[in-house]
Amino acid sequence: MSAGSTVFTIRNKLMLLSFLFALAPVCAVGILSTRTAEELILTMVANQIDQVTADKAALLERWIGERKADIELMAHSSIMQSMSPDEIESYLRQVKRAYRVYREIRVVPLDGAAIGGFPGSSATVEEERWFQEAAAGRLYMSDIRLDAGEGESFFMISAPRLARNGQIDGVVCARVGTGTILEVILRVSLGSTGESYLVDREGTFLAHKEPGRILTENIAQSESFRNIFGESRERRTTYVDYRGIEVIGASRRVGGTDWVLVVEQDREEAFHSADALERYILLVISLSIVGVFLSAWLLSRVVAEPIRRLSDAATHLAQGDFETVVIDTRRRDEIGRLYTVFDHMARQLMDRQQRLEKRVILREAELKETDVKLKRSQEAAARSQQLAALGQLAAGVAHEIRTPLTSLKMFLESIERELEFSSECEEDFQVAASQILRMEATINRFLDFAKPREPVWVEIDVEELIQDALLIAGPRAKQQETLLGTRLTAPLPRISVDRKQLGEALLNLMVNGLEAVGDHGRITVSASVETLERATGPQDCVRIDVSDTGPGIDPEHIPRLFDPFFTTKATGTGLGLSIVYTTVRRHGGEVRMKNDEGEGVTFSMLIPVQSGHVMEDDGKNSDR
Ligand code: ADP
Repeated sequence: MSAGSTVFTIRNKLMLLSFLFALAPVCAVGILSTRTAEELILTMVANQIDQVTADKAALLERWIGERKADIELMAHSSIMQSMSPDEIESYLRQVKRAYRVYREIRVVPLDGAAIGGFPGSSATVEEERWFQEAAAGRLYMSDIRLDAGEGESFFMISAPRLARNGQIDGVVCARVGTGTILEVILRVSLGSTGESYLVDREGTFLAHKEPGRILTENIAQSESFRNIFGESRERRTTYVDYRGIEVIGASRRVGGTDWVLVVEQDREEAFHSADALERYILLVISLSIVGVFLSAWLLSRVVAEPIRRLSDAATHLAQGDFETVVIDTRRRDEIGRLYTVFDHMARQLMDRQQRLEKRVILREAELKETDVKLKRSQEAAARSQQLAALGQLAAGVAHEIRTPLTSLKMFLESIERELEFSSECEEDFQVAASQILRMEATINRFLDFAKPREPVWVEIDVEELIQDALLIAGPRAKQQETLLGTRLTAPLPRISVDRKQLGEALLNLMVNGLEAVGDHGRITVSASVETLERATGPQDCVRIDVSDTGPGIDPEHIPRLFDPFFTTKATGTGLGLSIVYTTVRRHGGEVRMKNDEGEGVTFSMLIPVQSGHVMEDDGKNSDR
């Protein structure tokens, strides 16, 4: 099997399809949900931060505006103009008490003689920037500074003081403590990571929840600085802050200053719920993947596995292995029906195969049998040739002997007529004459066998034929005290035969029986009708059986039983059964022999009812 066909199995295809149709939508929905949730959260948080930034910046701006208004009010106050320095100092103390944000307030005439408290500085008043700016007629506000001694941040604010004639005659200056307002500004409620801080245009912290960073740390190199002070199109909602942490933030410049208020929240915290949703969706997708693969696996077991088994079974079937083809057909679905049909087909193939095998075995057996028969026929033919040659020789010899024997017989007859014998000589003479007669009978019998006379066909009654034979054999049977019985199945059909030859054949069988049983035996002659299966079709025959109660035949002798001159008797000619065989074959019938060793023999002659006689034995039916 190629690698490609292994990859594109039904199981893999099912898994792929399940993934496409079940998992892909889940994944898409999950990703979309997460994205949407993130966008929503980002928008919400960004809006909230933006709002907080705007509020805080506005608050700070208003507060600074108030401070500016305060200082201008004091600078332009006509009351202050009419006051003596002591009165001013007392007034400023009252203002300080009323507005705690003012750590110091001072009125400085242009000549530099300060009235009221003054923030400690090493420089002379004229060198201070707040003095110079205000003296030049401008409202001045410094950056935030840190008072190491008080531990509070502050900034300086100053305004020019106008005399009654409208000329600048001095400067009103105040040191404003920012601790309280910045505390409010820096306090934001944006989770645990939300923070707010103030930076100046150089990126130096002006206000921060960690005082250590104020005026000491600069964020000019960080991405957040670029995001705060860069072009508005470059600004992003999320960026990496001065700590290197990704945050969502917004910044707003505080009006009237160079300060920028920044509000930020760690992205991780803001997206906490979105991350939880993402994790939840990932869990759902993982479970779905497991579920899809499990169901695809189950489906493949239910569909693909049976098809694989069917394919294996088909392979076994193709290889002729019917034993392993059996499949469980208990399923009731379409696969079950497929199994049943396949099973039925397999069984039919198996039956056909078995029938073919049986037929082959049968044909082989038939071939073997035919082979054996052929061999037997060949042997019989060879033996027949030998016997024919022997028969010709014997017939010649017999013929040569018969002529002098006839002369001898005639000579003895004439001697008997002309000479007178004594009683002793008479007896010897009779023995010699009878021996000569016996020799002549044997020779005649042999010559009759070797060259049979032309048959004379007559229709006979089988029962009569048997009775005639019984009459001839009767005296000898009586002499041996042997029972001669018949068993005839009536009615027997008449048959066309050579009466003399068939009668002689029957007599030969009866004589053989009498010789076999000895004294006190039993010979039974029976006749019935039997149908023979011939190549030309069924043929009705009359069957004549001669059974005796003799010792039976030695199995060794059986193959040669019907050969001429085969005899086991001292005075036998070995021609009796040969004549029986030749006669029956000449009538188109068969001879059978059933040997029950120790219990007797039955010889059967089957003579066709319809004339089936042949003129010469073809030697082919060797059913002896
Ligand atoms: P013969 O009788 O002259 O010997 P057959 O051809 O008639 O010649 O018989 C040949 C042999 O077959 C016999 O010698 C005998 O051995 C055997 N035989 C024939 N018929 C019987 C029988 N009924 N019982 C036993 N042996 C038999």
